[in-house]
This record gives sequence, structure tokens and C-alpha cells, in this order.
Amino acid sequence: MIPPGVTDIHTHNPHAPTGTAIVNIEPDAGIPADAPPGALYSTGVHPWRSAEAATLWPRVENLAGDDRIAAIGEAGLDRLKGAPLSEQLTLLERHARLADALGKPLIVHCVRAWAELLALHRRLRPAQPWIIHGFRGAPALAARLLEAGMYISLGPRFNPATAAAVPAHRLLLETDDNSAVSIADVAAAVAAARDSSPAKSN
Ligand SMILES: [Zn+2]
Repeated sequence: MIPPGVTDIHTHNPHAPTGTAIVNIEPDAGIPADAPPGALYSTGVHPWRSAEAATLWPRVENLAGDDRIAAIGEAGLDRLKGAPLSEQLTLLERHARLADALGKPLIVHCVRAWAELLALHRRLRPAQPWIIHGFRGAPALAARLLEAGMYISLGPRFNPATAAAVPAHRLLLETDDNSAVSIADVAAAVAAARDSSPAKSN
């Protein structure tokens, strides 16, 4: 699972606080040469770059075993961008198998391909958690993902009713690509949404 002490599970900000954030790096960029001690990273082929999988995937495989790589991804499915969905599915499956082989969680990007994502999860039965990052969906969709055993990560933009409905032990937070917002801001916004809802759950 996510290393203890990490509060921001997914950011693209290379200057995010060391040790409490998992900084996403592009596989062709690699771990920065000046990475501070204790820095944590994730890497994968983003679905938007899935057409470049032939060159990027070997880089992911090379990097993934590094102790500083705390999670695999982001990887996933995006019906609106990238290679055809069938190719994205093959690529996502590779990431999921790598995540399980290394015992690292998978950070998932999913846009308009929830049925395909759920079907792949059912087929693979992964041991490692799949974390749906930047989730903006409604509680009903969150419920289907939670029922499958997945985790939900909320960022600067989220559905307040979903924030209130996700059990705390399946809820994660992130700043993603918004470097103007701190993880404390995200946490405060999510906490406010949970406190103000009669449907609050723990
Ligand atoms: Zn991201």
C-alpha cells in the first residue's frame, strides 16, 4: 500500500514536499538526478501517451523496481485521448501485472471507460490496490468501484456527495497537476464536505 506518512498520493509537482508526496514522473524522464533523500515517485505510461508505449513501456519496467518508486502509474483508460481503447487495455494490464509483481499499488486514470476498467479488474483480481486518481464522479459510480475493492483519490476538484460517501479507509487525497493548491487545502475541502453531509460515513 501507500507508504506511511504520504498525504499526497499523486502530484506532478516536482517541488512537492519530500516524503509526504508521490511525485509522478514520465518514464522517459526518469528519477531526477538531484532527487532529495526520501523522495517518492510513481511512473507509468499515461493513457494520453499510450501511442508511444513501444518506447515508454521498457522504461517503466526498468524504473519500477527502484525503491523510490512507491506506486505504478498513472496508467489507465481514456476514451477521449490516446491510442485505441483496446491498446490502452493491453497496456493497463501490463501495468497492473507489474504492480502485483512488485507489490506496489497502481494509480489509475480513467475517463469514460468504467465498464472496461471494472471488467479488467474482475478478470485480473489484482492483489495490489487500484487507486482511482482525481475522481470527480458521483457516489453511485464510486460505490461500484469501492465494491470491486478499489480506492478513491480526491483532488482539487471533486463531487462533495462522493467525498461524504467514501469510507475513510478507502479515501486518499492528491494535488495532481494543480501546484497552486496544497494538500492541506484539499484535505480541508474534503473534510468540510464530509462534515457537512448527513450521509457521512467512516
Ligand atoms: Zn495526474
